[in-house]
Amino acid sequence: MIDMAKQVMDHVKRLSVDIGHRPAGSPGNEAAAEYIEQVFRQAGLAVKKQVFSCSSWDHTETVLELAGQKLDAAANWRSLPCEVTGGIVPAGTLEELAQANMKGRIALLHGELTQDEFMNRASTVYYPERHRKTNDLLDRKLPAAVITVNPLLNSLRHVIKDPDMGIPSATVSPEIGCKLMHHAGKPVRLHIAATRFPGRSWNVLGTGSGSRSGRIILCAHYDTVWGSPGAFDNASGIGVMLTLAGVLAGRKLSLGLEFVAFSAEEFGGQGTEAYVVPYGLKQVPFQWDRPVGEQSEVWQPVLAAINADGVGLALGANSITTIAGSMAFDDLVNAIRSEKYPGVVRVDPWPASDHYTFYSHGVPSIALGCTGGITNINHQPIDTIKWISPAKLAEVVSLAADVVEALQDKTSEWTRSKIIST
Ligand SMILES: [Zn+2]
Repeated sequence: MIDMAKQVMDHVKRLSVDIGHRPAGSPGNEAAAEYIEQVFRQAGLAVKKQVFSCSSWDHTETVLELAGQKLDAAANWRSLPCEVTGGIVPAGTLEELAQANMKGRIALLHGELTQDEFMNRASTVYYPERHRKTNDLLDRKLPAAVITVNPLLNSLRHVIKDPDMGIPSATVSPEIGCKLMHHAGKPVRLHIAATRFPGRSWNVLGTGSGSRSGRIILCAHYDTVWGSPGAFDNASGIGVMLTLAGVLAGRKLSLGLEFVAFSAEEFGGQGTEAYVVPYGLKQVPFQWDRPVGEQSEVWQPVLAAINADGVGLALGANSITTIAGSMAFDDLVNAIRSEKYPGVVRVDPWPASDHYTFYSHGVPSIALGCTGGITNINHQPIDTIKWISPAKLAEVVSLAADVVEALQDKTSEWTRSKIIST
């Protein structure tokens, strides 16, 4: 157990400390892909890299000025450059935004509009209706720039990261947001020096065959948002997967294993979109009320997909959920959890990560995550290894390995839900 904890922590350190932030299309992203490839090869897996094009971004400086006074602001990830001076027009609700006259001025979005990060309009994995409405309104209102107030004190966490956003934007803390609010109508200067350009990224696949047909997919995403070392999101999940590659390589398993390190998850599922192409599949557009998708014949040999995204928080509890599996599959997974892993919490199904692609095509899926503890390190520069517990990471490795073992004598008919809802 101690050795496993060290192994998984070494991977997390390598990704989040040595490499650091690794958004799709960045040099860090490429370095992470190379590292993962190397670990897969050492585990004796056959490696394939799937290249796909994505949006890259570089940023030099962001300046926000109110009456000659400089205020802290951070260009939102993938923002267009700008040099704009205009009056501030606040909007805290969709209705307020709908009625505002902000053409050529600077929109100050706050309140219900910026409680969470905007999902990209091209996201096929997760695109809530409220984000779509906000984007549509901004496209119609044509402000010269947008300032988003993020709700976390002292934080400059980006609110927008959309490569298709046609309006330059920056994020400010609540403290600065409040100051701007008190000066609504007064001219503010926003200067963003940044470039948006075409780039590429990779999914890294490692496969090992078993003694019979059928396979289990183990996946995690290795990309981060801009500016976050992503120890928790998601060096932790990749660390778990890479450790599993080594641990399971030494066992004689009857089922094949396919390890997938996805990229561009933070983009909105571009990595999974590239992954499904060779199977002749398309990403199923996201719908909250679609708990299980149509079963895809081409993935019938897949007994289960296990995804880890954000695990191992020292102050939280690891969590597990199953989606699109049979009752017997759910019972098996839950029995392993409750008998051996009392610290792991069973949670309701959640869609927003790469397992979505599998369950939306009817593949029984397990999502490993974290609950409780601290909630506001995600997608921030403070998402560092100090919050991560090696023992909690090892707990996830061990739990996933137990599930893989328990599925060895099962079939894909056994793991699949008999009832298909669409
Ligand atoms: Zn993540």
